Amino acid sequence: VSASLDVTTFISSRAHHGKTAFIDASTGRRLAFSDVWRAVDCVSSALSGMGIRKGQVVLILSPNSIYFPIVCLSVMSLGAIITTTNPLNTTREIAKQIADSKPVLAFTTHQLAPKLNNSNLPIVLMDKNDPSTPIKILTTLDDLMKAEPKQSMIKERVNQDDTATLLYSSGTTGASKGVVSTHRNLIAMVQIIVCRYRLDETAQTFICTVPMFHIYGLAALATGLLASGLTVVVLSKFEMDEMLSAIGKYKATYLPLVPPILVAMVNNADAINKKYDMSTLKFVLSGGAPLSKEVIEGFVEKYPAVNISQGYGLTESTAVGVSTDTVEESRRYGTAGLLSPSMEAKIIEPESGKPLPVNRTGELWLRGPTIMKGYFSNEEATASTLDSDGWLRTGDLCYIDEDGFIFVVDRLKELIKYKGYQVPPAELEALLLSHPEIADAAVIPFPDKEVGQYPMAYVVRRTGSDLSASAVMDFIAKQVAPYKRIRRVAFVTSVPKNASGKILRKDLIKLATSKL
Ligand code: ATP
Repeated sequence: VSASLDVTTFISSRAHHGKTAFIDASTGRRLAFSDVWRAVDCVSSALSGMGIRKGQVVLILSPNSIYFPIVCLSVMSLGAIITTTNPLNTTREIAKQIADSKPVLAFTTHQLAPKLNNSNLPIVLMDKNDPSTPIKILTTLDDLMKAEPKQSMIKERVNQDDTATLLYSSGTTGASKGVVSTHRNLIAMVQIIVCRYRLDETAQTFICTVPMFHIYGLAALATGLLASGLTVVVLSKFEMDEMLSAIGKYKATYLPLVPPILVAMVNNADAINKKYDMSTLKFVLSGGAPLSKEVIEGFVEKYPAVNISQGYGLTESTAVGVSTDTVEESRRYGTAGLLSPSMEAKIIEPESGKPLPVNRTGELWLRGPTIMKGYFSNEEATASTLDSDGWLRTGDLCYIDEDGFIFVVDRLKELIKYKGYQVPPAELEALLLSHPEIADAAVIPFPDKEVGQYPMAYVVRRTGSDLSASAVMDFIAKQVAPYKRIRRVAFVTSVPKNASGKILRKDLIKLATSKL
């Protein structure tokens, strides 16, 4: 006899029965843990009856919702695979992902369903249909949840090494790729996060505004579900006022966020502290993109009762990698933290492939139980990212100090190459954010015949500021080596960012070079 645990069984082994698992922040609707597991039984049985089998792919195109995790758990319990997509993606982008991942069924909402019109996919509607937008649907999630679970359902055995999710990287640095993660990866992720952030009953209630289609939101959900029965307040999308109001209304203690939201919270701290009840909030987690030391310090100063922590990871490492768990660690010269338990890290010089000693910057390689199986149907990309010993090349430039703290310097592919020197835009952005009149900033490479590329800054001034471009350039020039100087500045009202908080540099480069 051999036995192996799948992620749904692993998560469901913690019973919390009548305790509230999910609250829909806009309607106030609550689902108890017992409701969630009953719904998962019904939906998985119904899906099996509809012919969904192990290894098949099911697409979810939906904003955050209390039903999102029910769909994920139901599909995964059958050994079928979840693929998700950003609701903001265009029909063309979604069609591309469908052509790559070949789902057999889609879960979506009535508003988003038209984006699947040309896909010929059978649709299960996750909300109520609106007769004014006629769409062809197979059935509704509501009906599946009402179906009696059948004893005779066909449920193949699901093993740890079976694929659980096929999430697509956001494509900020290249083409978006399908990341194949297994049940083992997800189980390890839950164990590591629960252990590292010491999640237990005292964490009580957290607010999920990070996107569930991304590994960050899925990780938040999976750990929330497992970690001694946290209650998750679900916001369908990020909206500052709604998020801050929900903290007081639901006495939230724990808030996973992306850096742009933290920047906005620091910039508007006085007004926020005056208007909203933040007294229950104990813990804020930042992940998905770099968080500068200046923002951490600003946050600690403005919200002294809240413990801020950082997490670093990739879709390819199932959200796990490096994290801090106390304010002191976070403030330690801007570190992303210590390596997660069960993981290994090394720093490799990109040119020579040789390991580097402490405090030397090179590419971070990660190995451990959360590292993906590979990219879907893309042997070339898999071979250039995963080596035969299981090491993942993260594409991030990092260094590790003598105490094991890991510092993310920048993404290898985003370095600006000025006369052969490499300039990390993240370093300049952190400096720009430390200027009292700058609310937000992004630095991009600007092409130049003579020097190759030079750093150009897009700057958002604080209200009332008339800061000039030359003042911005002088401010930076005083603090960096000459090759890192910013040589062009444009003022904008906002910096474009994606759902995981990353600056959309490709859009800004297009904007900057469109007039050339
Ligand atoms: P693509 O590879 O297609 O461009 P993506 O990299 O945006 O997509 P994700 O998995 O969302 O896909 O992002 C992982 C990357 O996010 C990491 O490699 C790193 O560059 C960045 N990142 C995540 N957390 C942090 C952090 N705490 N500090 C700095 N960077 C971070």
